[in-house]
Amino acid sequence: MILSGKVALVTGASRGIGSAIAIKLAKLGAKVAVNYSSSVEAANEVVKAIEENGGQAIAVAADVSCSQSVDKMIDIITKNWGTIDILVNNAGITRDGLLMRMKEEDWNRVVDINLKGVFNCTKAVSRIMMKKRSGKIINISSVTGIAGNTGQANYAAAKAGIIGFSKSVARELASRNVQVNVVAPGFIDTQMTSVLSDKIKEDIISKIPLGRYGTPEEVANLVAFLATDYSSYITGQVINVDGGMVM
Ligand code: NAD
Repeated sequence: MILSGKVALVTGASRGIGSAIAIKLAKLGAKVAVNYSSSVEAANEVVKAIEENGGQAIAVAADVSCSQSVDKMIDIITKNWGTIDILVNNAGITRDGLLMRMKEEDWNRVVDINLKGVFNCTKAVSRIMMKKRSGKIINISSVTGIAGNTGQANYAAAKAGIIGFSKSVARELASRNVQVNVVAPGFIDTQMTSVLSDKIKEDIISKIPLGRYGTPEEVANLVAFLATDYSSYITGQVINVDGGMVM
């Protein structure tokens, strides 16, 4: 299998896009650390699903917005498996609202988890990858970080921040053979988007050339490609998985 012998960490992997990525990387042979912040049962279910498929996984707790918590998680993974070859920064939240009504705490929480979380995990894991002179970092942004979206100034700022961060780190780590890329999903059918009203969902679908929401597995397929050496000459790129919504 193409990822045999590789160790992957996927943040926010207890459900949605993160769990689909964890399951896909494990199917390709990687040992997968399934990060969760509070939902231990859901994370254990993902581990079970991977093991039932013949793969290897462990559930690891950490709030990605807290660097001490991230460092402890990295310690646990390296004590178990010795290294980390693939990092997928997937954990994210929304706290939507028009700018005029947006509370400071909603700005802070979204930026802390979606953007500072990527900084915390990338900084900790890139030490290991730089020493090894090999690694793949895949950051999950959003088309909202490219095109903006009414009611999502905090989320769009954090997701756009991920793009600038990733391009800078891609330049810094390129000489150590570490590739850093960004995946920007459009509208994907998960619990994050299930809260939208039917009217908003219809409006969104009318703007998607392929005429439907994407699935978590369709995002996972691109992440899997970027995690393998099929992507060995790709770094610092932003690739949309959005049914043609933003082009
Ligand atoms: P989701 O809400 O189903 O999953 C998000 C995961 O992040 C959850 O498992 C949650 O527990 C975890 N998480 C939240 N805070 C955390 C923290 N502090 N530390 C660790 N984990 C934490 O959402 P999803 O739709 O699967 O989204 C996954 C990623 O994809 C997010 O970064 C999201 O912004 C991005 N994205 C989603 C869509 C979409 O349409 N669903 C579109 C574009 C981008």
